[in-house]
Amino acid sequence: MLEIVGVDAWKLTIPRSQPFAIALGTIVGAENVLVRVRAAGGAYGLGEGSPLRYVTGETQGTAFLLAGELGRLLLGKDALAVGARVAEMDRFLAGNPTLKSAFDMALHDLAAKHAGLPLYAFLGGERRSLWTDDTIGLDSPEAMAEAARDVLARGFPAVKVKLGTGREEDVTRCKAIRRAVGPDVPLRIDANQGWDAATAVQVLHELASLGIEYCEQPVPRWDLDGLCRVRAASPIPIMADESLFDAHDALRLAQMGACDLFNIKLAKCGGIHEALRIVAVAEAAGVPCMLGCMWETRLALSAMAHLVSARPAFRYADLDGHTGHGEDPILGGVTYTGGRIDLPATPGHGAEVDPEFLTRMEGYTVGSGA
Ligand code: MG
Repeated sequence: MLEIVGVDAWKLTIPRSQPFAIALGTIVGAENVLVRVRAAGGAYGLGEGSPLRYVTGETQGTAFLLAGELGRLLLGKDALAVGARVAEMDRFLAGNPTLKSAFDMALHDLAAKHAGLPLYAFLGGERRSLWTDDTIGLDSPEAMAEAARDVLARGFPAVKVKLGTGREEDVTRCKAIRRAVGPDVPLRIDANQGWDAATAVQVLHELASLGIEYCEQPVPRWDLDGLCRVRAASPIPIMADESLFDAHDALRLAQMGACDLFNIKLAKCGGIHEALRIVAVAEAAGVPCMLGCMWETRLALSAMAHLVSARPAFRYADLDGHTGHGEDPILGGVTYTGGRIDLPATPGHGAEVDPEFLTRMEGYTVGSGA
């Protein structure tokens, strides 16, 4: 028993150096939430969520407000019984997976520190060498080709390309990007629900000769029949993203044969506890996974990298949420050398927030003060 005595919540706001457009909307900065779960004796865990309103319906404001409600729910309970705490949060509050993932992350950090283990080892995994792509937002074909060259110049081994605004311009974008980066660089594409099934099949056939590794979420999240039809007709493997939130979705997608790959995100599924349940479904069904992200700092990205390292079902990592941030307020945690990610050996996920940066952020406490 490790009693939870206090919870602190902060708004974690970081402007982007440039706005970033996807088919769902434009992001001007990371508007995240940080939670610190404190236990008797002074130990604590840190978790971060990056609410993307187009995907989960949460905002920084809703997450910041509800963090107090979830915090009060946890006071006096055992921090080490992570699964029981996650189940309580789910009974107490429907939805809000991104906020819940911040709490789940803080509880895992705390429990792994208590065990004296890096998070990947606490999860029963081993240290693997990890690579991430970097993602380029929607723009003109010329600007996206230039951005793709820049991704490679910064040392990333693969480029993820946002699409989904229309057949002709999407095909033109991809051809321009392939010309710019040469024939051998892995390219992945993400339509963010921007096509209907017929358009998707047409676009994917037109892109077949460009050597695209996979296509994320070609059709609206609710159109599972359409996703099945696209997968059956597509020359390019199909990855479910917005259609996949939790393990129930994963089971349904696998049973329907709706996709070749899963894009798991802590912000969608509610945290590491649920992500591991999705991974179990994926392993049983033979569906390889990617771990994706929203606009998290290196704090949440550190926890995610530990999770990827711990489970071989993760074939890909798309952990580039911080690459456009105007500031990096995180101390410790994973290091990026271009697209290579190295895990720290310290207990927990190993990341802290610069205390000076936190003094500039709005925050509050429930339970006892720090
Ligand atoms: Mg996606």
